[in-house]
Amino acid sequence: MSETKHNWTKEEILDIYNKPMMELLYEAATIHRLHHDPNVVQVSTLLSIKTGGCSEDCGYCPQAARYHTDIEGNDLMSVQQVKAQALRAKSTGSSRVCMGAAWRNVKDGEEFDQVLEMVRTINKLDMEVCCTLGMITENQAQRLAEAGLYAYNHNLDSSEDYYKEVISTRGYQDRLDTIDNVRKTNVTVCSGGIIGMGEKLEDRAGMLVALSTLNPQPESTPINALVAVEGTPLEDEQPVEIWDMIRMVATTRIIMPETQVRLSAGRTQMSREGQAMCFFAGANSIFAGDKLLTTPNPDVNEDMKMFATLGLDPQKPFTKKVQPQSVEASNSQFEALGEKPKWTRPEHKIERNELAKASGKAQK
Ligand code: SF4
Repeated sequence: MSETKHNWTKEEILDIYNKPMMELLYEAATIHRLHHDPNVVQVSTLLSIKTGGCSEDCGYCPQAARYHTDIEGNDLMSVQQVKAQALRAKSTGSSRVCMGAAWRNVKDGEEFDQVLEMVRTINKLDMEVCCTLGMITENQAQRLAEAGLYAYNHNLDSSEDYYKEVISTRGYQDRLDTIDNVRKTNVTVCSGGIIGMGEKLEDRAGMLVALSTLNPQPESTPINALVAVEGTPLEDEQPVEIWDMIRMVATTRIIMPETQVRLSAGRTQMSREGQAMCFFAGANSIFAGDKLLTTPNPDVNEDMKMFATLGLDPQKPFTKKVQPQSVEASNSQFEALGEKPKWTRPEHKIERNELAKASGKAQK
Protein backbone atom coordinates (compact mmCIF):
# COMPACT_ATOMS: atom_id res chain seq x y z
CA MET A 1 0.00 0.00 0.00
CA SER A 2 1.48 3.37 -0.99
CA GLU A 3 2.28 6.02 1.62
CA THR A 4 -0.18 8.83 2.10
CA LYS A 5 0.86 11.99 0.25
CA HIS A 6 0.74 15.20 2.28
CA ASN A 7 1.80 17.82 -0.26
CA TRP A 8 -1.15 17.96 -2.62
CA THR A 9 -1.45 21.19 -4.61
CA LYS A 10 -4.62 22.90 -5.75
CA GLU A 11 -3.73 22.20 -9.39
CA GLU A 12 -3.25 18.47 -8.76
CA ILE A 13 -6.55 18.29 -6.91
CA LEU A 14 -8.40 20.16 -9.66
CA ASP A 15 -6.93 17.77 -12.24
CA ILE A 16 -8.40 14.86 -10.29
CA TYR A 17 -11.76 16.60 -9.69
CA ASN A 18 -12.16 17.37 -13.40
CA LYS A 19 -11.27 13.92 -14.76
CA PRO A 20 -13.82 12.23 -17.00
CA MET A 21 -16.43 10.81 -14.60
CA MET A 22 -15.84 7.14 -15.42
CA GLU A 23 -12.10 7.44 -14.88
CA LEU A 24 -12.60 9.36 -11.67
CA LEU A 25 -15.01 6.75 -10.33
CA TYR A 26 -12.73 3.86 -11.28
CA GLU A 27 -9.68 5.42 -9.66
CA ALA A 28 -11.55 6.38 -6.48
CA ALA A 29 -13.22 2.96 -6.17
CA THR A 30 -9.86 1.21 -6.66
CA ILE A 31 -8.19 3.26 -3.93
CA HIS A 32 -11.22 2.78 -1.70
CA ARG A 33 -10.93 -1.04 -1.97
CA LEU A 34 -7.22 -0.98 -1.13
CA HIS A 35 -7.86 0.81 2.16
CA HIS A 36 -11.40 -0.09 3.26
CA ASP A 37 -14.03 -2.80 3.03
CA PRO A 38 -16.29 -1.39 0.27
CA ASN A 39 -19.35 -3.10 1.76
CA VAL A 40 -19.07 -1.51 5.19
CA VAL A 41 -20.40 1.96 6.00
CA GLN A 42 -20.07 3.63 9.37
CA VAL A 43 -23.30 5.07 10.78
CA SER A 44 -23.27 8.04 13.15
CA THR A 45 -26.12 9.80 14.89
CA LEU A 46 -25.83 13.55 15.28
CA LEU A 47 -27.46 14.94 18.38
CA SER A 48 -27.97 18.65 18.96
CA ILE A 49 -27.35 18.89 22.72
CA LYS A 50 -27.67 22.68 22.76
CA THR A 51 -29.53 24.31 19.90
CA GLY A 52 -29.64 27.88 18.60
CA GLY A 53 -28.73 31.23 20.10
CA CYS A 54 -25.18 31.11 18.73
CA SER A 55 -23.15 34.31 18.67
CA GLU A 56 -21.34 33.46 15.41
CA ASP A 57 -22.40 34.64 11.94
CA CYS A 58 -21.81 31.48 9.82
CA GLY A 59 -23.75 32.28 6.65
CA TYR A 60 -25.10 28.75 6.25
CA CYS A 61 -26.31 28.23 9.80
CA PRO A 62 -29.89 28.60 11.09
CA GLN A 63 -28.57 28.45 14.67
CA ALA A 64 -26.90 31.87 14.49
CA ALA A 65 -28.93 34.11 16.81
CA ARG A 66 -28.65 37.09 14.47
CA TYR A 67 -30.68 35.51 11.63
CA HIS A 68 -34.42 34.91 11.69
CA THR A 69 -35.11 31.21 11.14
CA ASP A 70 -37.77 28.77 12.33
CA ILE A 71 -35.57 26.59 14.51
CA GLU A 72 -36.49 26.01 18.13
CA GLY A 73 -33.59 26.65 20.46
CA ASN A 74 -32.95 24.60 23.58
CA ASP A 75 -30.60 24.79 26.56
CA LEU A 76 -28.05 22.08 27.20
CA MET A 77 -29.71 18.67 27.42
CA SER A 78 -29.39 16.57 30.56
CA VAL A 79 -27.07 13.55 30.71
CA GLN A 80 -30.12 11.26 31.05
CA GLN A 81 -31.76 12.72 27.93
CA VAL A 82 -28.56 12.20 25.97
CA LYS A 83 -28.20 8.63 27.26
CA ALA A 84 -31.75 7.79 26.17
CA GLN A 85 -31.09 9.16 22.67
CA ALA A 86 -27.78 7.31 22.43
CA LEU A 87 -29.46 4.00 23.36
CA ARG A 88 -32.06 4.62 20.68
CA ALA A 89 -29.34 5.35 18.12
CA LYS A 90 -27.50 2.16 19.10
CA SER A 91 -30.63 0.08 18.67
CA THR A 92 -31.03 1.36 15.10
CA GLY A 93 -27.49 0.55 13.99
CA SER A 94 -25.41 3.62 14.90
CA SER A 95 -21.92 2.97 16.21
CA ARG A 96 -21.19 6.61 16.97
CA VAL A 97 -22.97 9.51 18.61
CA CYS A 98 -21.82 12.99 17.67
CA MET A 99 -22.96 15.69 20.12
CA GLY A 100 -23.18 19.22 18.75
CA ALA A 101 -23.53 22.40 20.81
CA ALA A 102 -24.12 25.80 19.20
CA TRP A 103 -21.17 27.46 20.94
CA ARG A 104 -18.42 29.71 19.57
CA ASN A 105 -15.96 27.99 21.89
CA VAL A 106 -15.96 25.83 24.99
CA LYS A 107 -15.96 27.63 28.33
CA ASP A 108 -14.83 25.85 31.46
CA GLY A 109 -17.60 25.47 34.01
CA GLU A 110 -20.76 23.52 34.81
CA GLU A 111 -21.94 23.09 31.23
CA PHE A 112 -18.62 21.71 30.02
CA ASP A 113 -18.50 19.40 33.05
CA GLN A 114 -21.95 18.15 32.02
CA VAL A 115 -20.70 17.48 28.49
CA LEU A 116 -17.74 15.53 29.93
CA GLU A 117 -20.23 13.39 31.86
CA MET A 118 -22.19 12.80 28.64
CA VAL A 119 -18.96 11.61 27.00
CA ARG A 120 -18.29 9.16 29.85
CA THR A 121 -21.89 7.91 29.75
CA ILE A 122 -21.96 7.21 26.00
CA ASN A 123 -18.49 5.64 25.98
CA LYS A 124 -19.74 3.23 28.65
CA LEU A 125 -22.52 2.21 26.24
CA ASP A 126 -19.69 0.93 24.00
CA MET A 127 -20.37 3.52 21.34
CA GLU A 128 -17.85 5.89 19.77
CA VAL A 129 -18.38 9.42 21.09
CA CYS A 130 -17.72 12.54 19.04
CA CYS A 131 -18.25 16.17 20.05
CA THR A 132 -18.53 19.35 18.03
CA LEU A 133 -18.48 22.24 20.47
CA GLY A 134 -16.58 25.02 18.69
CA MET A 135 -13.04 26.12 19.43
CA ILE A 136 -11.23 24.34 22.27
CA THR A 137 -7.92 24.74 24.07
CA GLU A 138 -5.40 21.96 24.56
CA ASN A 139 -6.47 21.55 28.20
CA GLN A 140 -10.12 21.18 27.18
CA ALA A 141 -9.13 18.65 24.52
CA GLN A 142 -7.17 16.70 27.16
CA ARG A 143 -10.19 16.68 29.48
CA LEU A 144 -12.43 15.38 26.69
CA ALA A 145 -9.87 12.70 25.86
CA GLU A 146 -9.67 11.64 29.49
CA ALA A 147 -13.48 11.34 29.62
CA GLY A 148 -13.31 8.85 26.74
CA LEU A 149 -13.92 10.99 23.65
CA TYR A 150 -13.25 9.12 20.41
CA ALA A 151 -13.40 12.00 17.89
CA TYR A 152 -13.68 15.78 17.80
CA ASN A 153 -15.36 17.46 14.85
CA HIS A 154 -14.23 20.89 13.69
CA ASN A 155 -14.93 21.62 10.03
CA LEU A 156 -12.81 23.93 7.89
CA ASP A 157 -16.02 24.63 5.92
CA SER A 158 -14.32 25.92 2.73
CA SER A 159 -11.02 27.27 1.43
CA GLU A 160 -9.29 29.94 3.51
CA ASP A 161 -10.19 32.53 0.84
CA TYR A 162 -13.88 31.68 0.67
CA TYR A 163 -14.22 31.25 4.43
CA LYS A 164 -13.94 35.05 4.64
CA GLU A 165 -17.03 35.34 2.43
CA VAL A 166 -19.13 33.20 4.77
CA ILE A 167 -17.99 33.94 8.33
CA SER A 168 -16.65 37.14 9.86
CA THR A 169 -16.66 36.32 13.56
CA ARG A 170 -13.62 34.03 13.62
CA GLY A 171 -10.60 33.26 11.46
CA TYR A 172 -9.45 30.17 9.59
CA GLN A 173 -6.36 29.89 11.76
CA ASP A 174 -8.62 29.39 14.82
CA ARG A 175 -9.99 26.28 13.15
CA LEU A 176 -6.53 24.94 12.44
CA ASP A 177 -5.40 25.75 16.00
CA THR A 178 -8.33 23.80 17.47
CA ILE A 179 -7.53 20.81 15.23
CA ASP A 180 -3.94 21.10 16.42
CA ASN A 181 -5.08 21.08 20.06
CA VAL A 182 -7.10 17.91 19.43
CA ARG A 183 -4.08 16.31 17.74
CA LYS A 184 -2.07 16.70 20.94
CA THR A 185 -4.38 14.09 22.52
CA ASN A 186 -5.36 10.59 21.43
CA VAL A 187 -8.75 11.85 20.17
CA THR A 188 -9.22 11.40 16.41
CA VAL A 189 -9.94 14.38 14.15
CA CYS A 190 -13.12 14.79 12.09
CA SER A 191 -12.93 17.77 9.74
CA GLY A 192 -14.51 18.54 6.39
CA GLY A 193 -16.67 21.17 4.81
CA ILE A 194 -19.68 22.29 2.83
CA ILE A 195 -20.16 22.64 -0.91
CA GLY A 196 -22.87 24.69 -2.58
CA MET A 197 -22.24 27.95 -0.71
CA GLY A 198 -21.46 29.84 -3.92
CA GLU A 199 -17.78 28.88 -3.89
CA LYS A 200 -15.67 28.23 -7.00
CA LEU A 201 -14.14 24.84 -7.83
CA GLU A 202 -10.81 26.38 -6.77
CA ASP A 203 -12.27 26.86 -3.28
CA ARG A 204 -13.34 23.22 -3.06
CA ALA A 205 -9.81 22.26 -4.08
CA GLY A 206 -8.39 24.81 -1.62
CA MET A 207 -10.34 23.21 1.23
CA LEU A 208 -9.06 19.78 0.21
CA VAL A 209 -5.49 21.14 0.14
CA ALA A 210 -5.94 22.38 3.72
CA LEU A 211 -7.33 19.02 4.88
CA SER A 212 -5.01 16.69 2.96
CA THR A 213 -1.83 18.53 3.93
CA LEU A 214 -2.56 18.05 7.62
CA ASN A 215 -0.22 15.36 8.90
CA PRO A 216 -1.78 13.06 9.90
CA GLN A 217 -4.82 13.64 7.70
CA PRO A 218 -8.19 13.74 9.54
CA GLU A 219 -9.51 10.27 10.38
CA SER A 220 -12.93 11.42 9.18
CA THR A 221 -14.04 14.04 6.65
CA PRO A 222 -17.70 15.06 6.31
CA ILE A 223 -18.71 16.35 2.90
CA ASN A 224 -21.86 18.41 3.33
CA ALA A 225 -24.10 19.80 0.59
CA LEU A 226 -25.55 23.10 1.73
CA VAL A 227 -29.13 22.92 2.98
CA ALA A 228 -30.23 26.48 2.21
CA VAL A 229 -32.42 27.52 5.14
CA GLU A 230 -34.80 30.46 4.85
CA GLY A 231 -33.61 33.44 6.84
CA THR A 232 -29.90 32.61 6.54
CA PRO A 233 -27.62 34.64 4.25
CA LEU A 234 -27.26 31.64 1.91
CA GLU A 235 -31.01 30.98 1.61
CA ASP A 236 -31.03 31.59 -2.16
CA GLU A 237 -28.21 29.22 -3.09
CA GLN A 238 -29.22 26.51 -5.55
CA PRO A 239 -29.09 22.83 -4.47
CA VAL A 240 -25.83 21.03 -5.19
CA GLU A 241 -25.89 18.79 -8.28
CA ILE A 242 -25.36 15.12 -7.44
CA TRP A 243 -22.45 15.02 -9.90
CA ASP A 244 -20.64 17.69 -7.88
CA MET A 245 -21.14 15.64 -4.74
CA ILE A 246 -19.82 12.50 -6.44
CA ARG A 247 -16.78 14.37 -7.76
CA MET A 248 -16.08 15.85 -4.34
CA VAL A 249 -16.37 12.47 -2.60
CA ALA A 250 -14.20 10.71 -5.20
CA THR A 251 -11.51 13.40 -5.07
CA THR A 252 -11.46 13.29 -1.27
CA ARG A 253 -11.13 9.51 -1.37
CA ILE A 254 -8.19 9.65 -3.82
CA ILE A 255 -6.18 12.25 -1.91
CA MET A 256 -7.11 11.00 1.59
CA PRO A 257 -7.11 7.22 1.16
CA GLU A 258 -7.34 6.22 4.84
CA THR A 259 -9.96 8.78 5.88
CA GLN A 260 -13.59 7.86 6.46
CA VAL A 261 -15.44 10.07 3.98
CA ARG A 262 -18.80 10.98 5.44
CA LEU A 263 -21.95 11.85 3.49
CA SER A 264 -23.49 14.49 5.70
CA ALA A 265 -25.99 17.33 5.25
CA GLY A 266 -27.97 17.38 2.04
CA ARG A 267 -28.70 13.64 1.77
CA THR A 268 -32.46 14.27 1.61
CA GLN A 269 -31.86 15.97 -1.75
CA MET A 270 -30.02 12.90 -3.07
CA SER A 271 -31.67 9.84 -4.63
CA ARG A 272 -30.71 6.37 -3.44
CA GLU A 273 -28.96 5.89 -6.79
CA GLY A 274 -26.99 9.09 -6.21
CA GLN A 275 -25.97 7.94 -2.73
CA ALA A 276 -24.97 4.53 -4.14
CA MET A 277 -22.66 6.31 -6.60
CA CYS A 278 -21.14 8.21 -3.66
CA PHE A 279 -20.52 4.92 -1.80
CA PHE A 280 -18.92 3.52 -4.95
CA ALA A 281 -16.77 6.68 -5.19
CA GLY A 282 -15.46 6.12 -1.67
CA ALA A 283 -17.96 7.50 0.84
CA ASN A 284 -18.02 5.10 3.78
CA SER A 285 -19.95 6.88 6.46
CA ILE A 286 -23.32 8.55 6.87
CA PHE A 287 -25.20 10.47 9.51
CA ALA A 288 -28.43 8.74 10.50
CA GLY A 289 -31.50 10.12 12.27
CA ASP A 290 -34.36 12.27 11.05
CA LYS A 291 -32.48 15.50 11.76
CA LEU A 292 -28.92 16.73 11.28
CA LEU A 293 -28.69 19.23 14.13
CA THR A 294 -31.56 21.32 12.74
CA THR A 295 -31.94 20.33 9.08
CA PRO A 296 -33.87 17.30 7.75
CA ASN A 297 -32.19 13.93 7.12
CA PRO A 298 -33.53 10.65 5.67
CA ASP A 299 -35.49 8.36 8.01
CA VAL A 300 -33.35 5.64 9.68
CA ASN A 301 -35.60 2.88 8.29
CA GLU A 302 -35.13 4.23 4.78
CA ASP A 303 -31.36 4.15 5.30
CA MET A 304 -31.47 0.55 6.51
CA LYS A 305 -33.59 -0.41 3.48
CA MET A 306 -30.99 1.26 1.25
CA PHE A 307 -28.22 -0.68 3.04
CA ALA A 308 -30.13 -3.95 2.46
CA THR A 309 -30.63 -3.14 -1.22
CA LEU A 310 -26.94 -2.33 -1.69
CA GLY A 311 -25.67 -5.18 0.51
CA LEU A 312 -23.96 -2.73 2.87
CA ASP A 313 -23.27 -3.48 6.54
CA PRO A 314 -23.01 -0.88 9.31
CA GLN A 315 -19.48 -0.69 10.71
CA LYS A 316 -18.97 -2.04 14.23
CA PRO A 317 -17.75 0.46 16.82
CA PHE A 318 -14.00 0.69 17.47
CA THR A 319 -13.11 -1.04 14.19
CA LYS A 320 -10.46 1.58 13.40
CA LYS A 321 -9.13 2.35 16.87
CA VAL A 322 -9.51 0.76 20.31
CA GLN A 323 -12.10 2.06 22.72
CA PRO A 324 -10.70 4.75 25.04
CA GLN A 325 -11.02 4.27 28.80
CA SER A 326 -13.19 6.83 30.61
CA VAL A 327 -11.61 8.36 33.71
CA GLU A 328 -14.18 9.44 36.30
CA ALA A 329 -14.36 13.15 37.16
CA SER A 330 -13.16 12.43 40.72
CA ASN A 331 -9.95 10.80 39.38
CA SER A 332 -9.19 13.41 36.73
CA GLN A 333 -5.59 14.49 36.23
CA PHE A 334 -6.63 17.68 34.50
CA GLU A 335 -8.32 20.58 36.20
CA ALA A 336 -10.29 23.37 34.57
CA LEU A 337 -7.86 26.20 33.90
CA GLY A 338 -10.52 28.82 33.25
CA GLU A 339 -8.48 30.05 30.28
CA LYS A 340 -9.73 32.91 28.15
CA PRO A 341 -7.97 32.33 24.84
CA LYS A 342 -7.95 35.14 22.32
CA TRP A 343 -9.77 33.46 19.45
CA THR A 344 -9.87 36.02 16.63
CA ARG A 345 -12.82 38.19 15.61
CA PRO A 346 -11.98 39.63 12.19
CA GLU A 347 -15.48 41.24 11.98
CA HIS A 348 -15.04 42.29 8.34
CA LYS A 349 -18.31 43.13 6.57
CA ILE A 350 -19.99 40.37 4.57
CA GLU A 351 -22.82 42.08 2.78
CA ARG A 352 -25.25 39.15 2.61
CA ASN A 353 -24.68 38.39 6.32
CA GLU A 354 -25.42 42.03 7.16
CA LEU A 355 -28.61 41.95 5.07
CA ALA A 356 -29.84 38.73 6.71
CA LYS A 357 -29.07 40.16 10.13
CA ALA A 358 -31.01 43.37 9.35
CA SER A 359 -34.00 41.41 8.10
CA GLY A 360 -33.78 39.11 11.13
CA LYS A 361 -33.85 42.15 13.42
CA ALA A 362 -36.87 43.58 11.59
CA GLN A 363 -38.78 40.30 11.96
CA LYS A 364 -37.95 39.90 15.64
S1 SF4 B 1 -22.16 26.73 12.56
FE1 SF4 B 1 -21.77 26.48 14.75
S2 SF4 B 1 -20.57 28.29 15.26
FE2 SF4 B 1 -21.54 28.76 13.30
S3 SF4 B 1 -23.45 29.83 13.84
FE3 SF4 B 1 -23.91 27.63 13.63
S4 SF4 B 1 -23.78 26.83 15.69
FE4 SF4 B 1 -22.71 28.79 15.69
